[in-house]
Amino acid sequence: VRVEDKLYQNRYRVDSGRSHIKVTPHVTPSPELLALVKLCPARCYELNGNGQVEVAHDGCMECGTCRVLAEGKGDITWTYPRGGYGVLFKFG
Ligand code: SF4
Repeated sequence: VRVEDKLYQNRYRVDSGRSHIKVTPHVTPSPELLALVKLCPARCYELNGNGQVEVAHDGCMECGTCRVLAEGKGDITWTYPRGGYGVLFKFG
Protein backbone atom coordinates (compact mmCIF):
# COMPACT_ATOMS: atom_id res chain seq x y z
CA VAL A 1 0.00 0.00 0.00
CA ARG A 2 1.39 3.41 -0.91
CA VAL A 3 1.76 5.96 1.86
CA GLU A 4 -0.54 8.35 -0.03
CA ASP A 5 -3.28 5.73 0.04
CA LYS A 6 -2.81 5.28 3.77
CA LEU A 7 -2.85 9.03 4.43
CA TYR A 8 -6.04 9.28 2.44
CA GLN A 9 -7.78 7.22 5.10
CA ASN A 10 -7.19 9.82 7.79
CA ARG A 11 -10.16 12.01 8.58
CA TYR A 12 -10.27 15.54 9.83
CA ARG A 13 -12.81 17.26 12.02
CA VAL A 14 -12.55 21.01 11.56
CA ASP A 15 -13.06 23.23 14.58
CA SER A 16 -14.26 26.09 12.43
CA GLY A 17 -13.49 29.56 13.67
CA ARG A 18 -11.00 28.21 16.21
CA SER A 19 -7.67 27.72 14.54
CA HIS A 20 -5.19 25.87 16.74
CA ILE A 21 -2.40 27.58 14.80
CA LYS A 22 -1.90 31.30 14.46
CA VAL A 23 0.69 33.12 12.39
CA THR A 24 2.00 36.21 14.16
CA PRO A 25 1.14 39.31 12.08
CA HIS A 26 4.14 40.37 10.03
CA VAL A 27 5.07 42.65 7.14
CA THR A 28 7.67 40.37 5.59
CA PRO A 29 7.87 36.72 6.59
CA SER A 30 10.91 35.31 8.35
CA PRO A 31 12.93 32.62 6.56
CA GLU A 32 11.36 30.06 8.90
CA LEU A 33 7.82 31.08 7.95
CA LEU A 34 8.71 31.00 4.28
CA ALA A 35 10.19 27.54 4.70
CA LEU A 36 6.90 26.27 6.13
CA VAL A 37 5.14 27.00 2.87
CA LYS A 38 7.26 24.22 1.42
CA LEU A 39 7.79 22.00 4.45
CA CYS A 40 4.34 21.53 5.94
CA PRO A 41 3.28 18.08 4.71
CA ALA A 42 -0.38 19.10 4.74
CA ARG A 43 0.31 22.37 2.88
CA CYS A 44 -1.41 24.43 5.54
CA TYR A 45 0.86 27.43 5.00
CA GLU A 46 0.72 29.62 1.94
CA LEU A 47 1.76 33.04 0.74
CA ASN A 48 -1.06 35.52 0.26
CA GLY A 49 -1.12 38.17 -2.44
CA ASN A 50 0.71 40.64 -0.18
CA GLY A 51 3.65 38.33 0.40
CA GLN A 52 2.66 37.36 3.93
CA VAL A 53 2.36 33.80 5.16
CA GLU A 54 -1.10 32.58 6.18
CA VAL A 55 -2.18 29.32 7.73
CA ALA A 56 -5.30 27.22 7.17
CA HIS A 57 -5.53 24.83 10.10
CA ASP A 58 -7.84 22.29 8.54
CA GLY A 59 -5.85 19.32 7.36
CA CYS A 60 -3.04 19.81 9.89
CA MET A 61 -1.62 16.39 10.75
CA GLU A 62 -0.10 17.61 14.03
CA CYS A 63 3.32 16.55 12.85
CA GLY A 64 5.04 19.33 14.80
CA THR A 65 7.31 20.55 12.02
CA CYS A 66 6.07 24.13 12.22
CA ARG A 67 6.35 24.13 16.02
CA VAL A 68 9.98 23.08 15.89
CA LEU A 69 10.81 25.56 13.16
CA ALA A 70 8.82 28.67 13.94
CA GLU A 71 7.28 28.62 17.41
CA GLY A 72 10.47 29.31 19.33
CA LYS A 73 11.02 32.66 17.66
CA GLY A 74 7.39 33.65 18.00
CA ASP A 75 6.49 33.39 14.32
CA ILE A 76 3.51 31.19 15.18
CA THR A 77 1.54 30.00 18.18
CA TRP A 78 0.41 26.40 18.22
CA THR A 79 -1.81 24.43 20.58
CA TYR A 80 -3.42 21.05 20.16
CA PRO A 81 -6.97 21.18 18.80
CA ARG A 82 -9.78 20.83 21.33
CA GLY A 83 -10.74 17.29 22.23
CA GLY A 84 -12.63 15.56 19.44
CA TYR A 85 -11.31 17.91 16.77
CA GLY A 86 -8.39 17.77 14.43
CA VAL A 87 -6.89 14.85 12.64
CA LEU A 88 -8.27 11.36 13.25
CA PHE A 89 -5.62 8.87 12.26
CA LYS A 90 -6.62 5.49 11.00
CA PHE A 91 -4.18 2.83 12.11
CA GLY A 92 -3.60 -0.55 10.56
FE1 SF4 B 1 1.71 21.48 8.91
FE2 SF4 B 1 2.71 19.78 10.69
FE3 SF4 B 1 2.44 22.36 11.32
FE4 SF4 B 1 0.30 20.84 11.06
S1 SF4 B 1 1.90 20.61 12.61
S2 SF4 B 1 0.54 22.89 10.21
S3 SF4 B 1 0.88 19.44 9.41
S4 SF4 B 1 3.79 21.50 9.75
